[in-house]
Amino acid sequence: MIHYRTTKEIALIQESAFIVGKTLGEVAKLLCPGVSLKTLDKVAETFIRDSGAIPSFKGYNGFPSTLCLSVNDVIVHGIPSDYQLKDGDIISVDCGAKKNGYHADYAYTFMIGNVAEEVRNLCLRTKKALYIGIEHAKAGNKTGDIGHAIQTYCEAFGYGVVRELTGHGCGRNLHEDPAVPNYGQKGCGAKLKKGMVFCIEPMINLGVRHIRVDRDQWTTRTADRFPSAHYEHMVALTDKGTEILSSYQWIYDVLPEQRDLIEK
Ligand code: MG
Ligand code: MG
Repeated sequence: MIHYRTTKEIALIQESAFIVGKTLGEVAKLLCPGVSLKTLDKVAETFIRDSGAIPSFKGYNGFPSTLCLSVNDVIVHGIPSDYQLKDGDIISVDCGAKKNGYHADYAYTFMIGNVAEEVRNLCLRTKKALYIGIEHAKAGNKTGDIGHAIQTYCEAFGYGVVRELTGHGCGRNLHEDPAVPNYGQKGCGAKLKKGMVFCIEPMINLGVRHIRVDRDQWTTRTADRFPSAHYEHMVALTDKGTEILSSYQWIYDVLPEQRDLIEK
């Protein structure tokens, strides 16, 4: 069932979204070779709780941590471990927070030090794909219009577009209808209407689109172990049009060079 949110509810979701954005900024401050994933997770949890919110992911279907930290060939749902980041790694930092009964959920893929050019391009183009998807997230369109646009852009580079995991509605529950796939056909899928709040989150692989899930039942990797990138924003369809509720502003405050990193 799709929920249609009031202006007041959307404001509350944005309040949670700003906490997520600030948390991503706190994590960005610490990103460098040698930092452990568990350290990042701990800082994020403390920051979220100090902000009067609770981590959305911790305990969700048994997920053990505040952040999903997905390094290199891990697409999403990586569990923070003692692994220490290395020069040349990429890491998707996905964060959720709930305040006043409403969740926010979004993600950014960071490059650590000197990243191979083809991997850097994968990140830039995945970020670009997110904004292309957002351009198609308009009342009157369908979810397939978003997916088609993302898929067409990414497959032109030969990238694998993950099918098994999708964007989603978000509000009182972390994951709500509709599913927002990163592939699809124009004019197909759920109709987009005013009041809808959903996450768009391309997961794009340098190699094949296929995935494998580790024995921990969470860590989702590329089947060929090539790297994967992941960016996620939350949008609301309102009287004003399409509003992006999430913000990378706090990331850009820490890493100003990230602001312009979008492949044209
Ligand atoms: Mg999500
Ligand atoms: Mg997410």
